[in-house]
Amino acid sequence: MNALITDSSPVVNNRTAAARQRPDRTNAFSLMVDASNIAWLTFDMPGTSVNIFNEGTFRDLNDRLLELEASPGVRALVICSAKEKVFIAGADLKSIRALPPGRVDDLLTLGQATFNRLAALPMVKVAMIRGACVGGGYELALACDMRVAADDSATRIGLPETQLGLIPGWGGSTRLPRLIGLPKALGIILAGKVVKAQQALKLGMVDEVVAPEHLKMWVQRQVNELLRTGKKFTRPSPPWIMNHRPVATMVAWKAKRDVMAKTRGLYPAPLLALDVATKGLQRDIEGSLALEREALLSLIRSPETGRLIDMFFKKEEADKKALPRGHALPVTDVAVIGAGVMGSGIAHWLASKGVRVVLSDISREALASGMVRVRKLVGEGVKRRAITKKEARDTLDHISPAHTPVPLHRCQVIIEAATEDLELKKRIFAGLASRCHPDTILATNTSALSVTALASVVPHPERVIGLHFFNPVHRMPLIEVISLPESSDDAVATAFGLVQRMGKTPVLVKDSPGFIVNRVLIPYLMEAVRLFDAGQSPHDIDEAMLDFGMPMGPMRLLDEIGIDVAAHVAHTLQTASDTLSRMVDAGSLGKKSGKGFYLHGRRTTVNPAVLSLRPSAKTAMNQADLQSRLARLLSDEALRCLKDGCAATAGDIDLAMVLGTGYASFRGGPIAYSLTLGNSVIKD
Ligand code: NAD
Repeated sequence: MNALITDSSPVVNNRTAAARQRPDRTNAFSLMVDASNIAWLTFDMPGTSVNIFNEGTFRDLNDRLLELEASPGVRALVICSAKEKVFIAGADLKSIRALPPGRVDDLLTLGQATFNRLAALPMVKVAMIRGACVGGGYELALACDMRVAADDSATRIGLPETQLGLIPGWGGSTRLPRLIGLPKALGIILAGKVVKAQQALKLGMVDEVVAPEHLKMWVQRQVNELLRTGKKFTRPSPPWIMNHRPVATMVAWKAKRDVMAKTRGLYPAPLLALDVATKGLQRDIEGSLALEREALLSLIRSPETGRLIDMFFKKEEADKKALPRGHALPVTDVAVIGAGVMGSGIAHWLASKGVRVVLSDISREALASGMVRVRKLVGEGVKRRAITKKEARDTLDHISPAHTPVPLHRCQVIIEAATEDLELKKRIFAGLASRCHPDTILATNTSALSVTALASVVPHPERVIGLHFFNPVHRMPLIEVISLPESSDDAVATAFGLVQRMGKTPVLVKDSPGFIVNRVLIPYLMEAVRLFDAGQSPHDIDEAMLDFGMPMGPMRLLDEIGIDVAAHVAHTLQTASDTLSRMVDAGSLGKKSGKGFYLHGRRTTVNPAVLSLRPSAKTAMNQADLQSRLARLLSDEALRCLKDGCAATAGDIDLAMVLGTGYASFRGGPIAYSLTLGNSVIKD
């Protein structure tokens, strides 16, 4: 125990003088040994609210492990974090990207060697997880003998690397299949999943989940018990058959088929991760780690990975940044006007984040249906274990339905989500102004109507903004925040802050028809209809864009949106289509009516009746031409948005398109894609 500091020394002084003096150390780990000879290793990166791995923190950790290797008296090691909401948030991507290629290899080797050193320590090793434990953080936990997690909402566990075009390369692709078996491990690694503590327990990713207030005591008791009895901690291994070569080959074959169906092979990371995890099982740990390094090095240099990481940083910045002007005022109470699909979705999401909501509708039936939708969403959350029963009750308790006009003076924000009709919305806005405080922010969720026109009917128009949510609200990550020239800085900053607090990503846009997402999307959908009119089959058009990397083809998307809704929005944006009008007249309204461009039965097939609604068929185009025409259209319109100042930067437009439409993220968004075609961007 020589080099170690004991219980009697204050924890703050636990960083040794040697560590303090070395410029290549970050001084992020402190080690303390208690009276039972349990070493507590606390990760606490100075000057930040997160813990991440980079060269400095790995060297620090190595120093501590060396001290432990030289301390035969220590019988157990518990690794924990001093941060409130983060155990370890993975790798320091910014510093890794700045490294020259040779140094990346060194860092991979250093990380793997550090976790191997941890795994080899001759003592019980426990990861005491509270807060985010992702990527390299979970790979550290995998090198321990036992993983115990706090049962709270901040605790999230998983390996999200493939979402960034990477693979778990500090032992995650090697150790997770050995811990929980290949099928379950692939489920996590290939999808880049991060799960809550209870789900991690169910999957075997952690060994115990404990209430956060009892976590430390539980670990202490458990470790002391192991030391007292001299028993080794053993956890049930996955059934051997899961990792048995012929079974693993079959599992890998099925997983590859699923990945190809989902990504069409456009994202190299999940395919490489699959290869490494499967082949790694046939090798020893060292051999498998070598596969991880090789795969990661090839990925890290690929342009796809570069764009995925860029997109990750753009999103992170939007999720966290404060606007340069204005104060984000606290929001505790919101009224939502209109309890339809969007209004009920918005009310549910706000309430789930602890905001008190008055949900109102002129129609008693619509309000009742809205509340049924909210209850269904909450019930599904409980079923998926995404929320607890208590959280479900709290969410419902936070919503007060109202079908008659009620005073709204308590509300700091009112979100109008009534039927898309300018005159109706103007009446609502004019009426609202008299029922709320003069400072209350009035937001509209209109898809394409003029926010400026709504502001014109309100006293104090500086509090009017747009908050454009996407459907379904609980799943879609983007909210366009529309500010008018007269909008007050505080109103915009408050709305921006509310969106961030809701866990959604805000993008600030100016009031112009369709804002960003619909402005870019609608011409693309209309171009798809024109291609259909010119004789292309809906299936070929959709396949072309699925091959481009869109999550859904444009014809199918039109069916999902509803042909009537699309026709209405297209009309508002002055790109009306005769074919869409004829489809509406024929009752082919898309998925909701069972038929649109497709027949939506047990199988989805092209609707033969709709073929007769178009002008006589003419030119045939090949897939490549279809794809380049539609993809270019998206890029051209996005560039026009930038030129018109719809958003401040090209990055904002790309982010909005990726989050709002699922635009192929490995291409970096429509403007980034246009750069690869040789276009030059005006500003960013
Ligand atoms: P919806 O038809 O499902 O709901 C509209 C609700 O507004 C109805 O319940 C109706 O009774 C209610 N309503 C009408 N007049 C009212 C009034 N005076 N006071 C209170 N309630 C009133 O429509 P939706 O799909 O929820 O869309 C609502 C708004 O959100 C529209 O502006 C739409 O353009 C926009 N939007 C829709 C989507 C989408 O995908 N559905 C996406 C983004 C934005």
